[in-house]
Amino acid sequence: MTDRKVAEVPVLIVGGGPIGLALAADLGRRGIRTLLAEKNENRIGPAKMLEVSVRTLEFCRGLGIVEEVRHWGFPMDYPLDNAFVTDMRGYEIGRLRAPSLAQERASAFSPERGMMCPQTWFDPILQKLARTHPHITIRHQLKLETFDQDADGVTAVLRDQRSNQTEVVRCKYLVGADGFASTVRDLLGIEIRGEPHIDWAMNVYLRIPDFFGHHDKERAIRYVFVGPDGTWSFISFVDGKDLWRMQFVGLDEDKLRAMDVDTLVRRAMGGDVAYTIEDKTLWVRKRTVADRFMDGRVFLAGDSCHAHPPNGGLGMNTGLQDAFDLGWKLAAVLQGWGGEGLLESYDVERRPASARAAEVSSANYRRLGVNARSADILAATPAGEVARREVGARLVEENRKSWQPTGVHLGYVYHPSPIVVPDGTPKPVDDTFGYEPTTFPGARAPHVWIGEGRSILDLFGAGFVLLAFADIATEPLTRAAGAAGVPLRVERITSEEAARLYARRLVLVRPDGHVAWRGDALPDCRALIDAVRGAGLKASARRVDALRQPTAG
Ligand SMILES: Cc1cc2nc3c(=O)[nH]c(=O)nc-3n(C[C@H](O)[C@H](O)[C@H](O)COP(=O)(O)OP(=O)(O)OC[C@H]3O[C@@H](n4cnc5c(N)ncnc54)[C@H](O)[C@@H]3O)c2cc1C
Repeated sequence: MTDRKVAEVPVLIVGGGPIGLALAADLGRRGIRTLLAEKNENRIGPAKMLEVSVRTLEFCRGLGIVEEVRHWGFPMDYPLDNAFVTDMRGYEIGRLRAPSLAQERASAFSPERGMMCPQTWFDPILQKLARTHPHITIRHQLKLETFDQDADGVTAVLRDQRSNQTEVVRCKYLVGADGFASTVRDLLGIEIRGEPHIDWAMNVYLRIPDFFGHHDKERAIRYVFVGPDGTWSFISFVDGKDLWRMQFVGLDEDKLRAMDVDTLVRRAMGGDVAYTIEDKTLWVRKRTVADRFMDGRVFLAGDSCHAHPPNGGLGMNTGLQDAFDLGWKLAAVLQGWGGEGLLESYDVERRPASARAAEVSSANYRRLGVNARSADILAATPAGEVARREVGARLVEENRKSWQPTGVHLGYVYHPSPIVVPDGTPKPVDDTFGYEPTTFPGARAPHVWIGEGRSILDLFGAGFVLLAFADIATEPLTRAAGAAGVPLRVERITSEEAARLYARRLVLVRPDGHVAWRGDALPDCRALIDAVRGAGLKASARRVDALRQPTAG
């Protein structure tokens, strides 16, 4: 049945998972009228994503929802340790300690820290926020079927799943946040590369009321089970009460389908314990990155353009970076101050950053099993003790990179990028584990406290911000920005610590918190504004040189 209703909206987002919702919330605060279409009912199944990264918490801080995310219900005094055990009543062979949320000390690198906030809680917080904006419409049971684009916009056909009627939506831009099996990506004919099928995996959700009464192990958010053949399973705490998620490593589809959950739970728990199965989901572990993240007026974000093994929690967290890279750019173009190259920079910036995170996710998965085999591991003998000490130390050392990788979360740098102005200094060494704060153009502008409970990051989000660490006349830049309609604010920073960290007298930060330019004096301000708003894409090498050579401000 066809009943064509034509609606017009500047942005159509397809997919109401975390990435579509985050983009809707970001466009909402920027005043952009948006329709989000989600094919399913407004109900989240068992959480896939459990861990939100430090960068995601920074985004949430910017959106004003960080307190809700932090206090969703996980016990504040519960240690966020990862423990390696032979079974819950057997040997503990290693532990990666991480303080509870209550013990949290401000990290040197961020006003926030990564934590657990399962999708079942996280997505509704994003949805509630997006719905507070009157110009954001979220419609469930509305499925994208097809679309066409022309020079002026995109015409999409969607089907209302309840009435079975189709509707036509005309938009300026369409974003496919429609997950790994993306219809949008398929319709664009964009291929994905990588490993679309690493192996099969199974999530088993278990309610275990007496989990802690059953064993003598210290509390942890994850227990990894290690036998003579290495790591074979792990169990993660989902709700901070009695819900756990068990996963199995290295089994093929037949074994997973045929597996006897009772026997495996008994093996992991080291004996009988009462539990109920809440859910069992079979899924495929993959590492893929799309060949392109955009085509004309259509964009891909989240799992539709990069899917990761979940190890290390980089899937959604990386997808959110797409949303916050794209949101301000779409708004800029729709508000008339974004140049013709601004949207093109989305693919240039996000594809390498996503591929980097996907690589790390795969490495994290391999780390779980690495060098963990030992025939003696269960033996109550001196040889067994040696084996447990060695395997435990190896697992702790390797997996530290998976679970505390500040570098991968905070150290992604948009370089090269057509809208970032290089200053001729070499790109910092890429470290996905450690993190060295830097204002290298393209990097996330680093955190430093500039007042009681006030991070310098709290200044970013709305438009461009020129941070001035010295008494320099900044009018030429504000005038150039004003002439091009670019929202730009000057913030004079008096903190000496901030001045040292930021390393230049002037640093221009984009709405997504990345450094666009830095220098000790203003360059040709019109050229700078054109470069960072994507109107200087075809800038000649000479023009870039002119930006590098500061003239008196
Ligand atoms: C076991 C597991 C654990 C994970 N743990 C973590 C973790 O700890 N941290 C982390 O960062 N990531 C984790 N991930 C990855 C994370 O779940 C995904 O990266 C994230 O859900 C991707 O979000 P998305 O919005 O891009 O896609 P999805 O969550 O897949 O959402 C896409 C949405 O689009 C809708 N849709 C699809 N087609 C259409 C259409 N034609 N029309 C309308 N709507 C459509 C779908 O119904 C769906 O709601 C995990 C994944 C798994 C499998």
